[in-house]
Amino acid sequence: MSQHHLPMPDGETIAYHLERRSRKTVGLKINQQGLIVHAPKRLSQTELERMLLSKAAWIVKKLEAQQANQLEKFSWQDGASLLLLGNEITLSVRLDAVNRALEYVPGLICVALPSPDNQNSIARKVLQWYKKQALTDFTRRVALLAAKLDVSVPPVLLSSARSRCGSCNSRGEVRLNWRLLQAPPHIINYVVAHELAHLKEMNHSARFWAIVERIYPDYKNAEKELKIWSARLHQIA
Ligand SMILES: [Zn+2]
Repeated sequence: MSQHHLPMPDGETIAYHLERRSRKTVGLKINQQGLIVHAPKRLSQTELERMLLSKAAWIVKKLEAQQANQLEKFSWQDGASLLLLGNEITLSVRLDAVNRALEYVPGLICVALPSPDNQNSIARKVLQWYKKQALTDFTRRVALLAAKLDVSVPPVLLSSARSRCGSCNSRGEVRLNWRLLQAPPHIINYVVAHELAHLKEMNHSARFWAIVERIYPDYKNAEKELKIWSARLHQIA
């Protein structure tokens, strides 16, 4: 499966996963991952995008509905699926007389508390853990990439912004969204590289991108992938 962006007349783009198959027609599917397109091997990319554009209104409507649905539907209960560093992990919830500290073993987050049906208590506990892990993880990445860029290590703060993954300010602080911890490591590295490059260039000029490229050569693909991931990062909160 490869990732693509469909340019729309209004300047927006729609991200989609493309899979070429031996089939005669184009199939569209919208799920948790977004838009999935199954296309015949022989259909040219131009033809395919023309066809997708003709269905753009329908696609956008479906994508929005899917997103709304996902947000509403997530339920904090035993067996729920969470994302951590790009991997799916399972939430295990059990009853315990004592409210225990969250335990993490690879692939599994275990919560034990006296009220295992209280979704709010579970959510609070898990989100608190994510934020703590995020700060540790991001701080380490910032230190590594700052060294590579030859800048002094900036203070790292966590953000919970709805739309942005990262930002930095003129005081030289880097803010990273804890939700990013759900994305694969190379995407987190890209966001860190991007924000660190802003310590040298506070804009998106060619000079800025040249700095990004120095510490993250494959930044163009990462930027595209980040767009696709962004939608999934809001699944749990
Ligand atoms: Zn930027």
